[in-house]
Amino acid sequence: MRPLHVVIAALALVACAGAAPAPAPPPAAVVPVAPTPGVESSGAVSPPAADAAAAPVALNPDAGGLGTGNVDAGAIVSGSDASATTESACNEQAPQDFLVRGNFLRGGVAARERAIQYRTDTYGYFKGFGHAPADAQPPSHYVVETKFMDLPVRMHRKVVPALACVEEEIKRSCADHPYKAHALAGIRFRNTYRGGEVTNHIYGIAIDVDPSINTCCGCVKPWNDAPACQKPAKTEYDRMAMPECWVHAFERYGFYWLGHDVLRDTMHFEFLGDPDRILKNPPSKETSPDVARTGDVR
Ligand SMILES: [Zn+2]
Repeated sequence: MRPLHVVIAALALVACAGAAPAPAPPPAAVVPVAPTPGVESSGAVSPPAADAAAAPVALNPDAGGLGTGNVDAGAIVSGSDASATTESACNEQAPQDFLVRGNFLRGGVAARERAIQYRTDTYGYFKGFGHAPADAQPPSHYVVETKFMDLPVRMHRKVVPALACVEEEIKRSCADHPYKAHALAGIRFRNTYRGGEVTNHIYGIAIDVDPSINTCCGCVKPWNDAPACQKPAKTEYDRMAMPECWVHAFERYGFYWLGHDVLRDTMHFEFLGDPDRILKNPPSKETSPDVARTGDVR
């Protein structure tokens, strides 16, 4: 292992940024998904009970009545019926480099602060990270309930259209690699990183797909104890149940796959593209479905 990797791994020994896992979060519940087997930087596995107790709506007074919108990701992309003949309403885009974890960790304090402030300004202020704008709201204020591949998940409303784009792409491109997801985890209300980092789940822009069968071999136990982490594999694609095709579908629309990171967190995707560029013709604020349905036009 190169020294750089040692540093990065030490900084982050985390939880899979995504190892959240309680299988499927109850769709209607407001209580956040507690990262069950606490995958924390200390390397210690926190007792699930402690985690659950610490994952609290109480820390997020806003969470209660705010994540009430219900937006079907599949409904956002107008005119998309997944047929090859329909022109997609989606822009392809790459993750923004300065938001990629491996990049800002290599870039030092200034790079980390820049990445945090962008997320604060774009998705909301999470206490303890970044500088709050005057009218700051927490990311939980912008949460909506949506669906991805027929499963419920709660995400920041700005990235819901991107999930719809990915779903469209999967249906178009991955028919030869059938895969049925069973559990998703989106926004989280407690930071599962330590050491100055903050997980993108906090901002509602990260999603885990089937945490129990898509491994995180660079995380702490129990994630790195998974049988798939013990056997030889050419790439991380070989250690997960999800088809590689899904990864490329996410990547085409601005999501970064944390399987590329030293964490090797294969379940985890985070939207690092520009939310204003997701759709070719974004709806105006007044007519945006998520705004209309949440009744919140701010
Ligand atoms: Zn994750």
